[in-house]
Amino acid sequence: MAIGTADFPFSILDVAAFLRLNIRRRGPDYVYADCPICGDRRGKMNLNLTKNVWRCNYCGEGGGMLALYAKVYGVSSSAAYQEICDALQTGSAAPEYTVPYAAASSNEIPQAERASVQEIHRTFTAMMSALTLTPAHREHLRGKRGLTDAGIEQFGFKSTPPPQLCRTLARRLAERGYTVQGVPGFYVDDYGKLTVKFHQRTSGILIPIHSVDGLLCGLQTRLDKPIRDKDDPPEKEGIKYLTLSSAGKKMGTTSKSPVHFVGDPCSRVVYVTEGALKADIAHTLTGRTFAATIGANNTAGLDQLFAFLSRNGTEEIIEAEDMDKYRNPAVNRGAAKVHQVAIKHGMACRQLIWDPQYKGIDDWQLALHRREQQNEEQ
Ligand SMILES: [Zn+2]
Repeated sequence: MAIGTADFPFSILDVAAFLRLNIRRRGPDYVYADCPICGDRRGKMNLNLTKNVWRCNYCGEGGGMLALYAKVYGVSSSAAYQEICDALQTGSAAPEYTVPYAAASSNEIPQAERASVQEIHRTFTAMMSALTLTPAHREHLRGKRGLTDAGIEQFGFKSTPPPQLCRTLARRLAERGYTVQGVPGFYVDDYGKLTVKFHQRTSGILIPIHSVDGLLCGLQTRLDKPIRDKDDPPEKEGIKYLTLSSAGKKMGTTSKSPVHFVGDPCSRVVYVTEGALKADIAHTLTGRTFAATIGANNTAGLDQLFAFLSRNGTEEIIEAEDMDKYRNPAVNRGAAKVHQVAIKHGMACRQLIWDPQYKGIDDWQLALHRREQQNEEQ
């Protein structure tokens, strides 16, 4: 599959930041950095920000942004693409690598071949039905997010299982004939036991991600405690959502970039936002049809979805990303990508804006809804 770099949800600067390249000089459309491949420390590596290509004037290596990542870690271009997308979405740090001769051990860990969409759906459905929702999580969904018990039931929110139950959960699913190998989140631990990746520090509300054909294709956790880097400035919010993935684990599988869909697959108008829970809430409050990427920049799945919607009669896409799209470059790039892909598939696209004191479309709609309720009571 040939992918044009214009379609990538990241730039060469994102890759450079991710690899923590030491940047020596900056120009309007280029930077010079130390070369992670030959170990040059004089800033001989040129990164062209317009073309998203690089070349080291010392060792002569060069190429596109995937090649940069791929050469540093000794992985294929397609693995590089997936790992960069995953890392940008979760905000996780790049694995350590040695300069000048790179070969991170994590990339030698065998990965499972991905299970089929039907198998993933069946396994996730069985796993979710074995889990419960804690009273605290139910209260959050009702009180803070404005959902009803019927809505909670309908969308299927659950709480992440305690970590000590992960092995049992995986084993029981396998014993009951469900495919666990190749399902995102499942892997073989250091003791050779099948397990699923839920940890104490990543506990929270599990949110099903449904594809447009209704299959459960992924799970997102709304973390009880956002993950913050100790070096983060206090105003930085930290990571609030994680997508279940076992990429990099023994016999693990990546989550890819699933797109959540809620509403009518033949709707004339489809709203696009980020985050499955946000889409579910906004759909409940407005009755409109929503698609949601797992992060503003995880737009890889939009192309296929928009092609489907366009064939199915959708005429207009309404981009409803968070209002920080005006100051958050990552959200802004994601929003631009929504427009680009909509136009590619012959659909009109417009941007929805609202009172910026409400960040997400769900917050805004919930505030409107509660104001209406108050007026009715008066
Ligand atoms: Zn070099």
